[in-house]
Amino acid sequence: MRLLYTCKKAQQIISEGLDRELGLAERVHLKLHLSMCRSCTNFKGQMQTLRLAMKKLSK
Ligand SMILES: [Zn+2]
Repeated sequence: MRLLYTCKKAQQIISEGLDRELGLAERVHLKLHLSMCRSCTNFKGQMQTLRLAMKKLSK
């Protein structure tokens, strides 16, 4: 069993997490990865900012 997410996998989960509730295992793995990976942390911030902007535009 692979313990850690690759960046590709982590970013996929981050994107999916914007549209659906993540499972406990997914959240734990993602948190672990983000604690060690700056670029995915940045990616998550960008996605959330983008998401907020989209929500504002749609209202
Ligand atoms: Zn990463």
